[in-house]
Amino acid sequence: MVFPRENWEIIPRKETISIRVNVEERPDYFMFVLQAADPWRRGDWNRRNRNHASPWIWNSHNIQNIAIKLRNRGILKEHPEYNAYNPGAGPGKEREPSYWLCLSNPDLLKVVAEYVLEYFRKNPALDSFSLEPMDGDGWCRCEQCQKQTPTDLLITLTNDVAKTIEKEFPDKYIGILAYSKHSSPQTIRVHRMVYVLPTTAFNYSGNTTEEQFLKWREKMDNPYIGIYDYWNLPIWHCGLPGAKGGRISYMKEVFPKYYNLGVRVFQTEAIGGWAQNGLAYYIANKLA
Ligand SMILES: [Zn+2]
Repeated sequence: MVFPRENWEIIPRKETISIRVNVEERPDYFMFVLQAADPWRRGDWNRRNRNHASPWIWNSHNIQNIAIKLRNRGILKEHPEYNAYNPGAGPGKEREPSYWLCLSNPDLLKVVAEYVLEYFRKNPALDSFSLEPMDGDGWCRCEQCQKQTPTDLLITLTNDVAKTIEKEFPDKYIGILAYSKHSSPQTIRVHRMVYVLPTTAFNYSGNTTEEQFLKWREKMDNPYIGIYDYWNLPIWHCGLPGAKGGRISYMKEVFPKYYNLGVRVFQTEAIGGWAQNGLAYYIANKLA
């Protein structure tokens, strides 16, 4: 299926089919996901083109959802010290519940680890859990948190969670991006069950994308890494031709290059725009 419309589904017909092969093939990237920034018939297209994601590394912004659940359970009221400290919130409101938590608090880390353990017990078929923070910048400004980089605070959390769930769920993954304020590579080792996807935009580390893969991988027990790319966005490209998601030359360049840098998860934001992008998407799916 080239484009996700019936007119573009081509099924060759032959009276007899005869084939003699002894070949085992598997995708280079165990997860390749075109993340739609607008709705399109991704399901059909993925399925019919044998697009794949196994295991699925979930890396969406998610810590805010944990914060909401802990708030609903009354835990954040009972323990205001778990909330991110925001000196700009006004007198007496600095530790009000928000979408952000105080990640230097060791008791909070235990609470989050128990939360993830409970999640996998309820959803044992799922491959991963995302500990990617809320988008934007509400990082805790308390004294302890300020002593570490956002990256190290986040990696400490992911490592703690991984160690807690490892015994019961050794094959699960914790997904995060290396993005925005937590783009810079970590100074502590990353647990093998943590899957990191450096982003190709909003990378404030000062490193190129290629350097990001190399530097992050220096201190990772997981032998592989992922990429979070931006092929085209409505807000950037307005659906016009010319974005990298529509360029076949880009597809030819990036898939072998990133594979050689240890990338095995390829996720990218990609709108529909099939007239200008469809052929490149189709080829990308074959190359991944
Ligand atoms: Zn803090």
